[in-house]
Amino acid sequence: MYVTGSANQPGLLRAKRPSNFKNRLAHGEITTDRTALPQGISRLPERRRIDDNSMPTSFTEIKDYLECPTKYKFRKLYGFSPAVPELFGFGLTTHTAISKLHQDFPNQAPTREKAEQTLEEVFHLKHVFPSADPTRPGPFENARGRAKQVVGNYANDYAADFAHSRRMEYRFEIKADRALITGSIDLLLRMDDHENIIEATVIDFKTMDMEGGNDPNFWINMALQVQMYAHAANIVLGENAKTGAVHLLKERNTEERPNRVEIPVTDDAVNAAIENVKWAVERILQGDFPKRPSHSKCTDCDFNLICSKTPEQFADTTIPPEVHIPQTDSISRIRVAAFSDVS
Ligand code: SF4
Repeated sequence: MYVTGSANQPGLLRAKRPSNFKNRLAHGEITTDRTALPQGISRLPERRRIDDNSMPTSFTEIKDYLECPTKYKFRKLYGFSPAVPELFGFGLTTHTAISKLHQDFPNQAPTREKAEQTLEEVFHLKHVFPSADPTRPGPFENARGRAKQVVGNYANDYAADFAHSRRMEYRFEIKADRALITGSIDLLLRMDDHENIIEATVIDFKTMDMEGGNDPNFWINMALQVQMYAHAANIVLGENAKTGAVHLLKERNTEERPNRVEIPVTDDAVNAAIENVKWAVERILQGDFPKRPSHSKCTDCDFNLICSKTPEQFADTTIPPEVHIPQTDSISRIRVAAFSDVS
């Protein structure tokens, strides 16, 4: 184990003192010589941390590789965690409110007021606290206000989700060659009078903005995720999800621009998504992590400042199939960003 720290930190006038915890570390074998290993250490044979035949992963991890493998390496292999955004947890707490609404209102849509009340009950942000002064709302109150609006709009605009359907959340674990993918799917199930499933829709609720929705690249990750989840639904339910959609909760739902966007989940679309995941997992296991930069990707990348951004090739020439996306700018198939967005 290494214990390290930094005395000088940006924004501080004086050097920081070592922590009390560090000061209490005392043992004859602890060394502060940074140039040599402590005495008596024996080298063990190297051992892979993951089993070659079953790499546990999630879509969130794989999507980094499909955008830029070096980004995956920084985050997953080196364990560099990006700073926590101020509103971390906004999506989760909004999602919890929607789950609770479906639990509490299994047959009929709640009114906007009831939906907002449910949000008030469950709203929680891990890193932001309510304002101490009730007359001066802060980031917590602003975020809660926004979430109330989002959940109220959902209950108002999608009453049919409650009236004719049941929403279920399933955790799943599926095998795709050497990948063991875990995740959780939201399903909207339409039932007959005997509780048989007539139709299943995979819905991915997102709290991101639709800014960029006119760019085909915007849809790649969302399409891949819904298609993978449609595959998982097939496994957990034993039947195909007929439709898939991304529901962008923060957007207003209008006729010209609905905030629930259908994602292709035909067999071809789902197979293409699975092939992309398998392709990524094979390369991760081979240890191939080239840089695949582009202006748009690198600008938003958490590792921008420590990455040279010099384009590199993959070790082999196999290219995964195109992803099926909602038609955008006349494009309905596109390769993942590691190929379609590199400069
Ligand atoms: S800065 Fe660009 S090239 Fe580097 S890891 Fe991020 S996306 Fe990849």
